[in-house]
Amino acid sequence: MNLIDKVAIVTGASNGIGREIAVCLAKLGATVVINYRSSPEKASEIKDELLSKNLSVEVFQADVSIFSESQKLIDFAIEKYGRLDILVNNAGVTADNLIMRMTEEDFDRVIDVNLKGTWNCSKHAAKYMAKQRTGRIINIASVVGIVGNGGQSNYAASKAGIIGLTKSLAKELSKRNIAVNAVAPGFIKTDMTNNLNENWISEIEKNIPLGRLGEPADIAKVVTFLCGEGASYITGQVINVDGGLVM
Ligand code: NAP
Repeated sequence: MNLIDKVAIVTGASNGIGREIAVCLAKLGATVVINYRSSPEKASEIKDELLSKNLSVEVFQADVSIFSESQKLIDFAIEKYGRLDILVNNAGVTADNLIMRMTEEDFDRVIDVNLKGTWNCSKHAAKYMAKQRTGRIINIASVVGIVGNGGQSNYAASKAGIIGLTKSLAKELSKRNIAVNAVAPGFIKTDMTNNLNENWISEIEKNIPLGRLGEPADIAKVVTFLCGEGASYITGQVINVDGGLVM
């Protein structure tokens, strides 16, 4: 499998899962635009690492929750490379709390970044992909969007929203040969989960049939598959990558 001549944008690629997806796509030959919001050093570090391997990469700062900034991100790729083949909507945040304690700001922020950010980037990208008559959009959801999770009413709602958005766009954009799928990770070792205490992690692992938390690479492998030739007849699907946690 290779992605030579493909242009990809990965949102929230300065860290964790997004970083791994960007590196994998670049290693397969894609030109990758690494989006970040507030970690320029981390984004530059990945750019330098990929450039040192003669891979094609750019970085672009944008807060995907802001409509105009997400438009600038998509336009940057189009102006620089003349096309956009792959959009991975990965940027995401949490602000966990029980509903009694969760603030309206916590709710709005998580919905704005996770759900509206995904819609914003998809809307701007779809315009160009539709003209090209080809494109792949991969949205990073979560198994929590399928089964819910106490203390994550904002996050679970945002991820459930992403699943509905994925299926709707898959139906809407199929006529233009644009495939839209979602990947729903379980518990993956990143900064998002590194504040969980050891005891809780052991409890979680007991409920994961494959017996371990996932690595960012476990998600990146499925995302790259969805970007490639092998996935050309797949759209509107949600693929759980969770060691069997939800089945
Ligand atoms: P992470 O390590 O915290 O990284 C989050 C990334 O999102 C960072 O690169 C951050 O960039 C970026 N970001 C945050 N807000 C942004 C915004 N408004 N605009 C643009 N970029 C923004 O998280 P992760 O664990 O890799 O999570 C990646 C995705 O997987 C998220 O959608 C998350 O919900 C999903 N997921 C994760 C898990 C898990 O167990 N880790 C499970 C299920 C789903 P800056 O640092 O530059 O701001």
